[in-house]
Amino acid sequence: MPERKGINKKLIYIVLVIILVALSYFGVDNFDKFFNEEYPFESTQSETTEMINVHYIDVGQGDCTLVVCGGKTLLIDAGENGHEQQIINYLNSLNIKKLDYVIATHQHSDHIGGIPEVFENFGVDNIIMPRLTEAQTPTNTTYTAFLKAIQNSDAKVIASKVGAKYTLGGAEFEILGPVTNDAEDINSMSVVVKVTYGENSFLFTGDAETDEENEVLETGADLDCDVFHAGHHGSYTSSSKNFLNAVTPEICIISCGADNDYGHPHDAALKRIKKHTEKIYRTDICGSIVITGDGSVLSVTYENL
Ligand SMILES: [Zn+2]
Repeated sequence: MPERKGINKKLIYIVLVIILVALSYFGVDNFDKFFNEEYPFESTQSETTEMINVHYIDVGQGDCTLVVCGGKTLLIDAGENGHEQQIINYLNSLNIKKLDYVIATHQHSDHIGGIPEVFENFGVDNIIMPRLTEAQTPTNTTYTAFLKAIQNSDAKVIASKVGAKYTLGGAEFEILGPVTNDAEDINSMSVVVKVTYGENSFLFTGDAETDEENEVLETGADLDCDVFHAGHHGSYTSSSKNFLNAVTPEICIISCGADNDYGHPHDAALKRIKKHTEKIYRTDICGSIVITGDGSVLSVTYENL
């Protein structure tokens, strides 16, 4: 009998030890699994919503750029008359229903031609544009259609103001120009805007020429950026030496049409840009170009790979 009691005690002890070891083993294992599975999952999810995507949409000879961050959208310009369907198709392919902001950099047809159709097909919350003097205000049918589309919409109309900042998901954009309103050519009334997301930055200057570039430079604004959308489709009248020295681009995008009447991009501008970077992507060659940033690293993809 005493022997059996001893065996029972030993057995109970062994079973208890096995149970404790098993519990602690599975417990620790489950605990580890919880973090190993959940942490990367959460991290990936937040990266997906917080990425910035900048789409330089190919609209032939004109400008149209879509910035998307955290589900918020900014459209900078809407191309020339006749290219509106390309923009509508592009935005539809991204399942975009509404634009939080539209910037009309200036009131030339290769930048505002598609605005009426954009307003007809998508909700627009805000439109930012330069406030022109009477002498600068165009009188053509493109401008009339542009004004009518805005007046018939619920969009808030905002006159560009240097220093004004807006949030776009986790990104921010700041208006850097035009500084004055005395330009004879409304190219140099173009809204200059810098979009920043973490360490990623993108600069847009519309068709600003050297005089406006100099005015922006004189404000002392931080122009340094990763991606520079070359002013005025790569014209020699923009992307001046001093301006580029402040911008120091790592990547340059040029929006222009194949065999365009203006000869854009001009060799003189390309030569100045190449002093800073060889990474030049053109919509006439690449088609639409997409730059994705995670706040640190940038990647470039384009249509005609
Ligand atoms: Zn233009």
